[in-house]
Amino acid sequence: MDKPDDRALRQALVDTVARLDAAGYNHGTSGNVSCRSGAGLLISPTGANAATLTADRIVRLAPDGSVVGDGVPSSEWHMHRAILNAYPAVDAVIHTHADCCVALSCLQRPLPAFHYMIAAFGGADVRCAPYATFGTAALADNAVEALRDRRACLLSNHGMIAVGASLEAALNLTIKLETLARQYLLACQAGSPVILPDAEIARVLERYSGYGRTRLSG
Ligand code: 13P
Ligand code: ZN
Repeated sequence: MDKPDDRALRQALVDTVARLDAAGYNHGTSGNVSCRSGAGLLISPTGANAATLTADRIVRLAPDGSVVGDGVPSSEWHMHRAILNAYPAVDAVIHTHADCCVALSCLQRPLPAFHYMIAAFGGADVRCAPYATFGTAALADNAVEALRDRRACLLSNHGMIAVGASLEAALNLTIKLETLARQYLLACQAGSPVILPDAEIARVLERYSGYGRTRLSG
């Protein structure tokens, strides 16, 4: 059964799918989104297409992963459920096949601290989870591990995941990660990017804790 505010959550998921499609981060039916709802979750249906997705087609999963009501959930429901189970502070999960994240994921390399904004993801890099077949529990395990102390990860030869306390927060991180991946690939074309030391990333993390809310000292 839906809870009173689930209507708004379902619509927020539909809007997020539309925004990812409009930004060119997902094409056709690639990618999927979910958010926590009570002890279970709401997730986009498998094969979801931004042009035809409606709030009614969003699928509810019980905590054990079984479908409540109608619909077939995204093939990546293991991944979404495992992330929401592993990280109580996370309420929303976005998975995309955004071009630059995919390109980097095919090198099976993490995104290093070539730019200070890498710290926005929680540490000195964005990890790249080892490859596993899409839709498997093995991929879910790899993603959970790669997200430890981080707000995003790449999925080898596949794409990316961003997580947040809201769909809006996860979407902002998705945009940030794809932008940084593009900038890193550009820098790599021109030479070998200089990687910032861990101590500098620690300083940035400290400054980020007040960023956007208080005036920062010099
Ligand atoms: P779904 O259409 O089942 O959500 O799958 C898309 C995808 O990105 C698989 O990794
Ligand atoms: Zn995918």
